[in-house]
Amino acid sequence: MIANSEAIEQARHGPWDVIVLGAGPAGAVAARRLALAGRGVLLVEKSRWPREKACGGCLGAAALGVLDEVGLARLPAECGGVRLSAMELACRGSKAVFPIDRRVAVARQRFDAALVSAATDAGAVFIDQALGRVLTPAQRAYRAVQIHRGGDAWVARARAVIVATGLGGRETGAAIRSGSRIGLGAIVPHASPAGERIQMALGRAGYAGVAPLGGGLLDVAAAVDRRALAAAGSPAALVGSIFAEAGVALPPGLDDAQWRGTPPLTQHAVQLASHRTLLVGDAAGYVEPFTGEGIGWAMHTALVASAIVDANLQRWSTACERLYELQYRHALGRRQRCCYGITRLLRHRLVRTATVGALRRLPALARPLVSQLERPLARSRQ
Ligand SMILES: Cc1cc2nc3c(=O)[nH]c(=O)nc-3n(C[C@H](O)[C@H](O)[C@H](O)COP(=O)(O)OP(=O)(O)OC[C@H]3O[C@@H](n4cnc5c(N)ncnc54)[C@H](O)[C@@H]3O)c2cc1C
Repeated sequence: MIANSEAIEQARHGPWDVIVLGAGPAGAVAARRLALAGRGVLLVEKSRWPREKACGGCLGAAALGVLDEVGLARLPAECGGVRLSAMELACRGSKAVFPIDRRVAVARQRFDAALVSAATDAGAVFIDQALGRVLTPAQRAYRAVQIHRGGDAWVARARAVIVATGLGGRETGAAIRSGSRIGLGAIVPHASPAGERIQMALGRAGYAGVAPLGGGLLDVAAAVDRRALAAAGSPAALVGSIFAEAGVALPPGLDDAQWRGTPPLTQHAVQLASHRTLLVGDAAGYVEPFTGEGIGWAMHTALVASAIVDANLQRWSTACERLYELQYRHALGRRQRCCYGITRLLRHRLVRTATVGALRRLPALARPLVSQLERPLARSRQ
């Protein structure tokens, strides 16, 4: 879906109730929620739409919980999502397999496109190939955004701006954790029908996962050390070496795949909210993808932010921004710290080996973590 000329024409007019920058899961969910509430919403995406994204594409309980809450529970199935029933964790030739319940693998391109369609069906105006930049505050009642599209540029105003620009897209500055890994991802064809399990290989240079997407495709995603990537020479070589080190069969077609990368993964925005602007999803903060919750975190924070925006659009104050910061931390603080702690521990070879060895002998040991991850995030409250 590429923006049509009518949408581009509409995008020049305003002022808007809300401008949402970035049409990933966070931006699309925020735009839809606000459009359904009758707000005038402009959704601005810099890529040509639909776009690919380096991601494992696994929707966990947090993501599925949000989709249930907003009446889009059918979306993963409509996108050809594959229900996953088990996780295989491999390290140095040893493998542990344990059951997982609430996980569905989706192709991000299809899933994100479906979410944006749901937002435009609700009344949001969507333009792609348009880069938005939030301008320094000049008016109390509005926030201005400069939009560049092709050779064209204009300034649009809105009562509130939701920044959902993902990693590296934010403008308020980011604090990047030292030693943060970067993400790599590719979709590869698979001749035989893939099973319903995620395979995760743990190695020295990071970890790599494979998930079945249906339709003869596999999603390959990895979090890797930057220096190891430079030394390996290519994403395919590095990801291949992580699978080999762990003793996992190499997915086919790694060398020919079109790889996508990300900026450093573990980072957070210096400021979550200011002057009628709220940051959501990865733009607000992200931790390495080991627990596969980023899409859920992104959509959840989008709901929290859009509820606050909707309730306070006519009487905005800095209290709304503080409320968002509080609710954001309440919703995600523990989950992000837990994910971060696990990824730091797994950097130690002995911990990796001992964890997989213990889970191989006693898969039930994974239950407490799996149960924690299978719990939806606390329902958004105003
Ligand atoms: C290797 C890897 C594996 C992962 N695996 C999983 C997984 O299995 N499950 C899971 O839940 N999560 C996973 N994640 C995390 C997940 O991909 C992200 O958390 C999620 O995409 C965040 O959504 P978002 O909407 O915040 O940002 P994004 O999906 O990144 O969307 C941001 C959008 O904003 C656009 N944009 C950027 N700047 C601008 C601008 N100035 N103007 C307009 N548009 C702009 C971008 O083009 C992009 O389309 C993984 C991540 C990585 C790197």
